[in-house]
Amino acid sequence: MSLRVSSPRSPSSRAPRGTAVAAGVALTAAALAVPGPALAEPSSRRPLTPPLTQPPAGPAKRPVATGYGGAVSTVDPYASAVAIEVLKKGGNAMDAAVAATAALGVSEPYVAALGGGGYVLYYDARKRRVHTVDGREAAPRRMRADSFVDPATGKAIPFDQAVTSGLGVGVPGTVAQWETALRRHGTRSLPALLKPAIRLAEKGFVVDQEFHDQTALNQKRFNAFPATREVFLRNGQAPAVGSTFRNPDLARTYRELAKRGPGWFYRGGLGREVVRTVRKPKVDPASGLNVRPGLMETRDLAAYRALTPRPTRVTYRGLDVYGQQPSSSGGSTIGEALNILGHFKLGPDDTVRTLHHYLEASKLAYADRGRYVGDPRHVKVPLDELLSRGFARERACLINPDRAATAPVPPGSPDGRYEKCRVPAAPAVSTTYEGPQTTHLVTADKWGNVVAYNITLEQFGGSGITVPGRGFLLNNELTDFTLQPPAPGSPPDPNLPGPGKRPRSSQAPTIVLDGHGRPKLAVGTPGGSTIITTVLQILLNRIDLRMDLPTALAAPRATQRNTPQVFAEQGFIDRYGTALTAKGHDVAPFPGPPAGTIGAATGLEFLSPRLVQAVAEPTRRGGGSAMVVRPRR
Ligand code: GLU
Repeated sequence: MSLRVSSPRSPSSRAPRGTAVAAGVALTAAALAVPGPALAEPSSRRPLTPPLTQPPAGPAKRPVATGYGGAVSTVDPYASAVAIEVLKKGGNAMDAAVAATAALGVSEPYVAALGGGGYVLYYDARKRRVHTVDGREAAPRRMRADSFVDPATGKAIPFDQAVTSGLGVGVPGTVAQWETALRRHGTRSLPALLKPAIRLAEKGFVVDQEFHDQTALNQKRFNAFPATREVFLRNGQAPAVGSTFRNPDLARTYRELAKRGPGWFYRGGLGREVVRTVRKPKVDPASGLNVRPGLMETRDLAAYRALTPRPTRVTYRGLDVYGQQPSSSGGSTIGEALNILGHFKLGPDDTVRTLHHYLEASKLAYADRGRYVGDPRHVKVPLDELLSRGFARERACLINPDRAATAPVPPGSPDGRYEKCRVPAAPAVSTTYEGPQTTHLVTADKWGNVVAYNITLEQFGGSGITVPGRGFLLNNELTDFTLQPPAPGSPPDPNLPGPGKRPRSSQAPTIVLDGHGRPKLAVGTPGGSTIITTVLQILLNRIDLRMDLPTALAAPRATQRNTPQVFAEQGFIDRYGTALTAKGHDVAPFPGPPAGTIGAATGLEFLSPRLVQAVAEPTRRGGGSAMVVRPRR
């Protein structure tokens, strides 16, 4: 089947509101109408009658689905099917999203679990407002700026030791986030929404190559923890492709959570088990691993709250782009970069110029992210100024259209006193390392409510530590802090560990409204600190380069995070490497992990007020799964 994705009657093209700021750039929301060629909707990769020699496959994965009545895109067909089921039974977008994340806890247990956290954006169609729920993990009260420093050396402990430790485990936020999100925006109870995931955990899913590979990647450290080995390995090995993976422990945990409620996690027996595990992880002595104990106490769980900060908002080419505010740097960094890019006329007539500006704007926004963004309940974050037009103008003037600036570039001064052009005097701050992979999903319902949801354990397999008998892994989110305090005399770091503090995230669930408060796009991705550049690049592909959303997601990516090199996928290098090198960019293959590919995005677009296109990755990380309630015929 082939279909056209252009949408001449999309709300945005009918009635664009404002225009881009300054520099007299008069592009509007009409930019979103796609003139492009018809796009073939890829069919299932599963042959109808699989040859007998092949192992059984899971449900079909389709990267694009267009239709009515609700839509979902996740990395996993089981989770997408769960969301569609909820929507079909009259649940709303938030209900579907919570049910899908619970299912991901089963089928993507290395990126989504009760032991993690994340951020969710919700567009309320009736009120035409965007809300957020911040379920970011928090540091225990006993954590200090130097908690990751080895007193013997005065240096931060090696990163891999911080990852696989109790010390790196933050107070999980997912259960509290589900509770808050459902209370404020849902229509179904948590017990009802856990049911499909319980079924999935009991009946099992078919192991695909991606699940196998993610397990194999973790095999050594999973083997070091008997509780983890028992759940996720088979005779010490990653389960075979085509085998069925069940998680009865998790099914029981979900069941009990449904019965006892979130208090069981934060003030009850399950919480005590989490704390015991973090404080004294049970390690197989034969592994030789030095696993540092954590600082978490039951009072830390009792003190945990999901937060509901306002979303960030910037206007770009007449569209309103909403994001997650700190403790994530997603909304502020994407917003600042878009504000900078709004000063330039960009478009498909000069893709290289557009990409050059993308890389330069991202470089500048990253410099400011590193210097100014942390948990706003612990450090002063000048969010309004970072997202102000005056600051964007001051930063935009540093972009030379013909020449890449030498990175790292110094941060600017978001101080409210802006000049036409100010060259910063401050020293540059380099970007700290963040783990690379978790997951993102989007849902929409028949009423037009929309969810964009990043859920995470920080990196594949989190800390590697499973709560014994409970079937879920604990996060290593606290390694998103800067582990080494700056040397005396260096600029302050807003992202040092502290008691109760949330480590700075890059997660960037993003919802775009047309100029009239109606939903247009939702997009997000995993990828650690590349999340920000991937979302930014997809928005640019869609809005400025006029690609349709499937093409915008599939297009090869590059990431510039204020580092000397631009890291890119091979397809990007093949296409634009020479032209960008001529402008002074040092373009190199993305080292990963996983090597070579950046992100695993999901998104959706309203092609008309009722017609929605859900989009997932066609190939990255094994491809994702887009579904709609009633496909367009
Ligand atoms: N720890 C990362 C962050 O919050 C998440 C990594 C990911 O989602 O890929 O920024």
